[in-house]
Amino acid sequence: MSLESPRILVVEDELAISQPLAKLLAREGFSPLVAGTAADALAEFAASAPDLILLDLNLPDGDGRDIAREIRRSSGVPIIMLTARGTETDRIVGLEIGADDYVVKPFSSAEVIARIRAVLRRSEGAAREADDGEAPLEAVTVAELSIDPVTHRAYMGDDELDLSLKEFDLLYELASHAGDVVSRDDLMTRVWDENWFGSTKTLDVHIGWLRRKLGDDANKPRWIETVRGVGFRFAAADGSAES
Ligand code: CA
Repeated sequence: MSLESPRILVVEDELAISQPLAKLLAREGFSPLVAGTAADALAEFAASAPDLILLDLNLPDGDGRDIAREIRRSSGVPIIMLTARGTETDRIVGLEIGADDYVVKPFSSAEVIARIRAVLRRSEGAAREADDGEAPLEAVTVAELSIDPVTHRAYMGDDELDLSLKEFDLLYELASHAGDVVSRDDLMTRVWDENWFGSTKTLDVHIGWLRRKLGDDANKPRWIETVRGVGFRFAAADGSAES
């Protein structure tokens, strides 16, 4: 991470957005890089190892979600999706592919800068915790499930689970408290943002995805039990989530 002046790769084909955005980023102390196509984005990503990527959903030669997936194969670089699609489903789908956050166009300067700073802070904090050994995040094992927060990998037996960043964080948070109820508020605060506001529908959507990837059934949970009006309880190591 270039702490002095983080490199921000702006992937956006509309010059009316990318040019003022690059100027704004420079003014705010970032080093902006701009790519106008999917192909340029991947080339620039490989060449300049940016600290964060602002990624447009609709590009002339491709879909931003495909770029995010491609980048996620080799990198945990923070990604913020820029989307003109306003429905909540589309917004959330943007996060399923491993993006860390999204901003809906049109957005204000203050909003996009605040999002960038929040996401960078989170990723710096995670990197520090993983590095310095002061507060090491510990691997968690529950029955045949094992979750390693340092390598960001989770396994069911020998099979690695293919989880988005949020799904991983959610699984880690729940499994770290296996046997106990974790409240919806705590999950939103710890997995999303301490300043989250509005609907927690995104939490239910991510729980649904996580259940699917764990092969779990909401009606007969082996792993994640819904505790109505409160939150969720992850199965204790010695049995099913049903109590
Ligand atoms: Ca576009």
